[in-house]
Amino acid sequence: MVSKRNETTKTRETVLEIDLKALQHNYEYLRSKIKPETKFLAVVKAYAYGSDSQAISLHLQNLGVDYFAVAYANEGVHLREAGVTAPILVLHPQKVHFEILIEHSLEPSIYSKSILSDFILTAQELGVKNYPIHLKFNTGLNRLGLSAKELPEISELINKQDAVKVVAILSHLAATEDSDETEFTNLQLKRFEAICKDADATFNTKLLKHVLNTSGIINYPQAQYDMVRSGIGLYGYGNQPDVDTHLIPVATLKTIIAQKHSIPAGESVGYNRKYTSNSEIITATLPLGHADGIGREYGHGKTFVSVHGQLAPIIGNVCMDMIMIDVTNIECSEGDEVIIFGKELPASEFSQTANTISYELITGLSQRIKRLILD
Ligand SMILES: *Cc1c(COP(=O)(O)O)cnc(C)c1O
Repeated sequence: MVSKRNETTKTRETVLEIDLKALQHNYEYLRSKIKPETKFLAVVKAYAYGSDSQAISLHLQNLGVDYFAVAYANEGVHLREAGVTAPILVLHPQKVHFEILIEHSLEPSIYSKSILSDFILTAQELGVKNYPIHLKFNTGLNRLGLSAKELPEISELINKQDAVKVVAILSHLAATEDSDETEFTNLQLKRFEAICKDADATFNTKLLKHVLNTSGIINYPQAQYDMVRSGIGLYGYGNQPDVDTHLIPVATLKTIIAQKHSIPAGESVGYNRKYTSNSEIITATLPLGHADGIGREYGHGKTFVSVHGQLAPIIGNVCMDMIMIDVTNIECSEGDEVIIFGKELPASEFSQTANTISYELITGLSQRIKRLILD
């Protein structure tokens, strides 16, 4: 559910506003941190971090982004259907999707020998030649990736066929945002450098090398190689306060007050009666809940939303489709707008109240929330 509008329309329901100007600002900021010749890959997995991967990718493609990445093949198909023509890397391809991947010109990140041999087989069956693949090496995240030791075997396998061709080598860093882990990050970068050293000669071509994510761009620009991969920064979050000040949250989650209640002292609010008022209070009920991605961990007074610029706590248990807030000291009416998080109340701060990170909060927003593209 996507529609477009200008910025002045009144909020009438729960919506996720997606500001393409903010996206452009963040892209330009991140670009300014790397050399002009370094390629920029936009990570648009998980619906572009919970926003709208088609609208975001088309806009970024117009701005000149060189590459896109998604986690799974179906996400790449979704981009092709929207008209994305730039190369798309699939970070976690699965065997069952190899044909779909090739049919849509998606480039797999090959992370194991068995994935490589199976992919070569599929490419041969489909009769393609020099199909571009990226080789992903594990340098310490210990999640997905080939080990450096496997390089000779891998290159032998690749150099004796012509269905696929290696175009890039990548790795992923575990802790680029963490200043206590610079030693480990530098070790990962050293391992990556060692893998890259003879790779062009081994594969007989000039390979793209890429290893940095958003916080890598900020904290390890010396390791930008030929391309960087940014996700969270594009959406307006920099994982550190000094970077956040330069970025603008792209998505703002807004809703309205569905109903107000005057609650006498001693009455409870919500399921299992987890909130009881000591004095008479005014509550407002909002039409979104844990089914929309605002989980129960945000209840019980720990987390605040904004009503006319004033903070109101979420009280009691978050319900599936509704939450209740305390608006006793806020002048407001039924139908008024409420900001859950976004430009005014960053997702990084909102998510912290539940001991999690902006990534989890924004990617967890349900598809039933209407997306509104502001351009
Ligand atoms: C998700 C992901 C990224 C993007 O990381 P951000 O911190 O959002 O910039 C980059 N590379 C890989 C392999 C990823 O899985």
